[in-house]
Formats: sequence, C-alpha cells, structure tokens
Amino acid sequence: MSTRVPHPVFTEEMRKTHTILFPNMVDIHFRLLQNVLEQSGYHARLLTNEGSQVSSTGQKYVHNDTCYPALLTIGQMISALETGGYDPDRTALVLPQTGGGCRASNYVSLLRKALRDAGYPQVPVISLNLQGLDDSPGFKITLPLLRKMLACMAYGDLLMILANQVRPYELQSGQTDQLVDQWIRELSGQFETGAGYDLHAMKRNDGLIARSFHEVPVRRVPKVKTGVVGEIYVKYSALANNHLEEFLRQQDCEIMMPGIMQFLLYAADMPLEDVRLYGGKKSTQVLNGVMLTYLTKYESLVMDAIGLYPEFTVPARYRRLKELAGGLIGTGCKMGEGWLLTAEMAELAESGYGNIVCAQPFGCLPNHIAGKAMIAKVRRRYPEANIVAIDYDPGAARVNQENRIKLMLSIARENLQQRTAAAAD
Ligand code: SF4
Repeated sequence: MSTRVPHPVFTEEMRKTHTILFPNMVDIHFRLLQNVLEQSGYHARLLTNEGSQVSSTGQKYVHNDTCYPALLTIGQMISALETGGYDPDRTALVLPQTGGGCRASNYVSLLRKALRDAGYPQVPVISLNLQGLDDSPGFKITLPLLRKMLACMAYGDLLMILANQVRPYELQSGQTDQLVDQWIRELSGQFETGAGYDLHAMKRNDGLIARSFHEVPVRRVPKVKTGVVGEIYVKYSALANNHLEEFLRQQDCEIMMPGIMQFLLYAADMPLEDVRLYGGKKSTQVLNGVMLTYLTKYESLVMDAIGLYPEFTVPARYRRLKELAGGLIGTGCKMGEGWLLTAEMAELAESGYGNIVCAQPFGCLPNHIAGKAMIAKVRRRYPEANIVAIDYDPGAARVNQENRIKLMLSIARENLQQRTAAAAD
C-alpha cells in the first residue's frame, strides 16, 4: 500500500494567478534569474527575509537532523508565508532538486511536509530540475528559458568575479556596485527582447563587461586575498553564512568566490564519471556530453573576458580543476560538492588566494570529507595555504565563527607584510 501523501500541483492556470517565491542564494545570479522568470510569464519573487525568525521557523517545521541549507530555505519560505504578505491560495514555492545521491534530493518532500504541518497544504511546490523529476504542468523549462537561465549563471559569475577584484580598490566608494546594477538592468533588457543569450551576443557582452570593470578608477594596494569554498548554499548565501562576504570586505580583504559554472560543469560531468567508473547508459553519455560541451563554451567566454585585462586573476577552468584534484582526492567522490571542493582549495592556493574559508553546514558529511578532512592534504601540497573550516548551523555563534576567521586573517596579514617587505628589499 502506498504511503504517499497527495500534494497540490502547479497548474497552467496558476501561472496567471500565483506568485512564485524562491530562496536567494547568489545575489547577482538570482536577480538576473528573477527578471528572466518574470519575462517568461511567471510572477517570481526572490526572498530576502532574514533574521532569527527564519532559522527558528525552519527548526519548528523540519527535523533537527536535517541539513542546515534545507532548514534555512524551508524556514525562509514558511516565515515569508507567515508574515501575511503572500496569499497562500495564490502562492507557489520553488526549490532546486539535484537528483543526486545526497540529501538535497529530498528537500522538496521535506518542504511539502513542512507546509502541511504549518497549515499551508494548498501551496504547490515546483521542483527545479533537469531530470524530469516531479512534473509541474504550469512550469516548463523550455529551451529558450534554459538557455537564458544558463546565461544568467555565466553572466552572474563574470560580474561577481570582476566586482570582487575591483571593489576593494575603487577610488569612489559604491562605483563597482553601481556598475553591477547597471549590467543587471542592461542584460535583463536584452533578454526581454530575445537577445543577449546566444554565444555570439554573450561574447560581445562579456568583453564589454570586462572593459567596464577595467575602466573603474582604482588604487591597487596590497590586500589580503581570501578565497571561499564550501557547500554550495552555505558558501554563497549571506543568510546561511552570516554575511561572510560582507564580513571579509569589512576586514579589508579581496575575495575570490569560485563561480557557479564550475558547479554546473561538475553536475553535468559526474554522471559521465559514473559511466567511466562503473558503466552505464549510452543516452547518459550523449546527453551529459552535449551539456558538458555547451557549458564549457559558456565557461570559456567568461574566462576569456576576464583574461583580457592583466590586472584580473582568471580562475582555473573546470578541466584544470579536475587535474588539480589528482593526487588529493578521487573524482568518483561526488556526494555534495565532492572532489570539486578540494580542487577549488588547491586552485585558490595556486592562484594567490591561499587564505581560505571552507564554509560547511554542521553535520554535512560529504563536505566534511571533501572539505575539512582534505585541508591537511592540501597544505602538504601548498605549505603556504592558510585554511580555516567554519561550521554553520542554528546553534553556531556568529561571534565564534568571525573570531576564528579573524585568527586566520591575522596569519594572512603577517604573511602579506613579510612578502611586501621582501619585495621592497
Ligand atoms: S551536501 Fe551536505 S548539506 Fe547538502 S544535502 Fe548533502 S549532506 Fe546535506
């Protein structure tokens, strides 16, 4: 006998009547994404509600063994409904579903149960995935929408990486952020007219974006260069990592946030790795092979544009990251962020961002294996690497997290002073 509880489905009609709420993760990328969804006929709202209410609501409606990213995203959505700002009879929620082996594949079911328990059984949940899991007839990822969504991720990476390399040195405070806003408006305008997301247009836009950041007046002085790696949600989401980026900026650091494209390439490549290691379907090879090729083109456009100006550091491409994992961790290790997380630490150490915060949800086994547990190995290869692993969960005190990062930064500053003095001799 089936124990499945029936749940409401997002229908064609709801497309006109319902507002779709989705949790924020990476600010620039998701602001672009919201505009694309709006232009595609959905009423989409990016959630930005924060505070202790979010995590306490999450703790109330999901089991305390559940991953912190699930607890926060579910808490954020239910507390948004509880504010009364959204009519539950005209609201839908969207969550990504990876379809991989890790617990993130169950977040959608957890959200549905939480909605029932919180008194919102009528709210449909849309699962955002490319595997055809959990169909929502009113929400279709058409080919043009998919291409625009991928373009949002590629443009988002480019804007994020360039902004992080310009903002700490800008002469006029706020100019970099204004430039980011200007590009979000410009790109969204292009998408609205059906332009801006084919490879040709992206190459042109990427070049213009890089030039505009190159032209921001700056004064480049030595600063502590810090990288951030970790579980994807905790790494990027200010809600989850207690505004880590903002904190590092206040500490006068230049930050390198590895891009989302690398994670997408990893997600497309890992089923191929399975086939290589264990055998599998020909169709997987073909489909994922096509996806990998396509994403690699996006990645190349972003990296080529950054490389146009020598003052910018170009992050390693996915292929290089995979090479860097060699000798540290097997590329069959692919739960959570898997070997990619280890490779990103190695890459940051190689590219001058060896002061690294490894942000991980407390109790996240995959990322403790590929993150915290790999630090000693990474340090053996890169003795200068200065890495701190920080756990995030509802019980972790922000002041303790920041004090541990400050300790890492004090070592980074000493190293920087020594290098600057040695260069001046
Ligand atoms: S990677 Fe970690 S946080 Fe994400 S689903 Fe797996 S266990 Fe949970």
